[in-house]
Amino acid sequence: MMRRIVGVLVLAAMAGWPAASGAWGMQVHRLITGLAIDGLPPALRSLYATQRAFVIEHAVDPDLWRVVGLSGDLGPEDPNHFLDIDALGEPAPFAGVPRDWNAYVARYGADKVEKFGRLPWRATEVYGKLVEAFKAMGRGTGYGADNVRYLSAIMAHYVEDAHQPLHAAENYDGQLTNQRGVHSRFETELPLRNWSRLTHPPVHTQPIGDIKTFIFSAVVDSNALVAPILNADKRAAQNLKKDANDRLIYDDGYYAAMYAAVRPILQKRLTDSANGVASVLVAAWTDAGKPTESIRRP
Ligand SMILES: [Zn+2]
Repeated sequence: MMRRIVGVLVLAAMAGWPAASGAWGMQVHRLITGLAIDGLPPALRSLYATQRAFVIEHAVDPDLWRVVGLSGDLGPEDPNHFLDIDALGEPAPFAGVPRDWNAYVARYGADKVEKFGRLPWRATEVYGKLVEAFKAMGRGTGYGADNVRYLSAIMAHYVEDAHQPLHAAENYDGQLTNQRGVHSRFETELPLRNWSRLTHPPVHTQPIGDIKTFIFSAVVDSNALVAPILNADKRAAQNLKKDANDRLIYDDGYYAAMYAAVRPILQKRLTDSANGVASVLVAAWTDAGKPTESIRRP
């Protein structure tokens, strides 16, 4: 999560927090990934069992790549984490947004693609690498299983981002409606304050079909939840006090009201997210022919 790193750090600095407070959003990635790993079917669970901590920790890596400004095949890392699907001139449920990468770039141009994001294509790219890693593992290639675990962590990150509603809308931080900071309030503070009160049902895996279609559908579902989240934030912030600089103080009362209003949405997206990660890992393993971990002896 942690949608646009610069914005988050600037806000954090303005609020006087250490920049590392972005790590809270990262903690939610870790928690969801843990739920997903623990819910994998037995045939896969053993592959991850001894490296559970490794996979969970590396599920935050893509957000760290943004911090250091790494670039991949599609361009800079930042737009890999979102798709502002409601900014693309198509009505919901956005069937008119091109699913083909070249068509998407041709229609909107490189600048808009960078601005509005490319999460489904990045997720598809990483999925392909994960399938190849599973195949390499099955052949007993050196590092095959290690690569599977690493790419599983990276895959988990993008699947989780697709399920965060505010990664799927132009008004991703309430910046268009005078609700700045809602991105972090929703994805970080709200779930962490309430993690033990939320229910985390056992993960349920299901066939996902085509990976890009699956990610697009997660993004479309995410977008539909943006309005209720923003409405709830507006109501919960109605009677907040302001600090000396005229900024709202998001206190316990705000978070209690917000939780009461959006708990079903938060609950659903965390659960969908964990289910999605587990289902995508099973799908990649299945596409690779369900290999078992083997080590080729010389
Ligand atoms: Zn992210």
